[in-house]
Amino acid sequence: MCGIFGFVSKKPVTGIGNMLQALKKLEYRGYDSTGIAVVTQKGIYSQKKAGRISKLEPFLDKKVLGSVFIGHTRWATHGKPSDKNAHPHFGCDNKIQIVHNGIIENYKSLKHELEGRGHRFKSDTDSEVFAHLVEEFLGRKNGSEIRYFEEAVRLSLKRIKGAYAFAVIHQNYPKVIIVAKNSSPLLIGLSDQAKYIASDPIALLRHTRKVIYLNDQELAIVTPDQLKISTLQNKEILRKYQEVSWSEDAVRKTGFTHFMEKEIFEEPEAVENAIRGRLIVSQGLAKLGGLESVRQKLESVKRLIITACGTAFFSGLVGEYMLEEFAGLPVEVESGSELRYKRSPFDDKSALLAVSQSGETADTLGSIKEIKKTGLLTLGLVNTVGSSIARETNAGVYNHAGPEISVASTKVFISQLAVFALLTLFLGRQRSMSKNMGKLIASELTLIPRKLRTILESSVYIKRVARKYFKYNNFLFLGRKFNYPIALEGALKLKEVSYIHAEGYGAGDMKHGPLALIDENFPSIVIAPKDSVYDKVVSNMEELKARKGKIIIITTSGNKGLDKLADEVLYIPKTIEMLTPLLTVMPLHLLAYYMGVFRGHDVDKPRNLAKSVTVE
Ligand code: GLU
Repeated sequence: MCGIFGFVSKKPVTGIGNMLQALKKLEYRGYDSTGIAVVTQKGIYSQKKAGRISKLEPFLDKKVLGSVFIGHTRWATHGKPSDKNAHPHFGCDNKIQIVHNGIIENYKSLKHELEGRGHRFKSDTDSEVFAHLVEEFLGRKNGSEIRYFEEAVRLSLKRIKGAYAFAVIHQNYPKVIIVAKNSSPLLIGLSDQAKYIASDPIALLRHTRKVIYLNDQELAIVTPDQLKISTLQNKEILRKYQEVSWSEDAVRKTGFTHFMEKEIFEEPEAVENAIRGRLIVSQGLAKLGGLESVRQKLESVKRLIITACGTAFFSGLVGEYMLEEFAGLPVEVESGSELRYKRSPFDDKSALLAVSQSGETADTLGSIKEIKKTGLLTLGLVNTVGSSIARETNAGVYNHAGPEISVASTKVFISQLAVFALLTLFLGRQRSMSKNMGKLIASELTLIPRKLRTILESSVYIKRVARKYFKYNNFLFLGRKFNYPIALEGALKLKEVSYIHAEGYGAGDMKHGPLALIDENFPSIVIAPKDSVYDKVVSNMEELKARKGKIIIITTSGNKGLDKLADEVLYIPKTIEMLTPLLTVMPLHLLAYYMGVFRGHDVDKPRNLAKSVTVE
């Protein structure tokens, strides 16, 4: 939510082009408005406009010369998307400009107080209050000494409650950006010519791979020659940079029309990357380096609580089915936004596993912080190396799926499922799983990428089905047992990118309510691989057919027994029941993608949504 980018360079440069290029990489985080501010010799140059980056571009003077640039792509939380609510925001005299990612929870009382002191506000956002606060604390002390500016930002931060990543610039300091972070992500990129600040490393790849992540409640003074990181209490911190390994190609569409399409086609690779070097097939074991430090503790865990939001929540549900049946470990899956406020009793034999693509999801992060207070072991399953969840948890597993740009998650979802299969092996073999069962799961898992590639070969057919059905306004997605969460995922994906109303339901539960909706205009998509609940799901389809419901079925290749029930059949290759979700979900991702495209939507950037939800 909201993308921040900026840089300070040794020499003045015409940096608007670089700003636009980087902000475009961050647009997945929000696209309600865009703005850029530059410290020039004649004062601050700033432009902002509602809408996508392309709306701002014509208004920008590409020749503007400066050493300090900051920019922002917004996902509105307070105040509608408009020019005046776009970031950067400034104080009364425009000298201070800020960009913000997060929510200032106590902004109303601060605004009231500042208005009482004569400050005049121009926007409806919570963010603007910060510019006025810094202005207030700086008072008349705006000479050229950085320490005055730093102190004013520090004092302002102490007055703020809520989540933030801030970048602050001042007209009188043409070589300084001050950044600060609490809950929302912020990192600093280092190169010889300049220093960069960004919400996500993907914005930095063109410039540098050396990054330093800020931790919560830290601020940093960023100048071309110096980087000073300190706590809000002004305790200086020395931190080494880390190298980002992602390639630049990973953040390009490379021949695909949309990132979502590209990322679905990368699903086989995502599974390969998740399992590479982590399976010992001959011994039926999984090797997870990130869990080695807590291996012994994990042996005595009696209950696992998985917390996640959105798509990751559904992968957690699949994980629950896998871990309970094959590792014999009781699991509960809790939404991050609920768990943090629940007062669930946990004993010390419980552990928490947080799942998040970005590793920055505010709700999930909030839950970890709450649960940590009870002393529980916390684990992370995240894609972004070095992200807040990775740092906040005791141990964890990375997806290694590469950057995911499309707002709707696809390849990382499948990667999460692959990691859950690895975890099932890891924790299962610590418990009662036999070596033979371990070998079976491990060997079947290695075959999944190849099987996914055969599904991709039938994408033309899936596209044809999407073309036939994209004008329907409602869909019911049904699945049972391992594929119940996949029904939820299929429905969510369709909603997100096509704006078609879709409901995901347990096939067995359908008769307890949603069946009332079914008629010839309300098709169902039923996930029915040949598994232990297949016959039950067939009965559920009979119930749909009896109400004239159209049915698109996803089943195991070779199963010819559904011709009478099905209006369309999509096939997946055979695998063991536990791993069917890794295959059944791919046709659903493709269906959602094609229907979104046929409806004429920008599938990579669905309206009202943004990736990496760093606000509550
Ligand atoms: N609260 C700020 C706004 O509405 C920033 C939103 C965000 O970071 O998502 O502009």
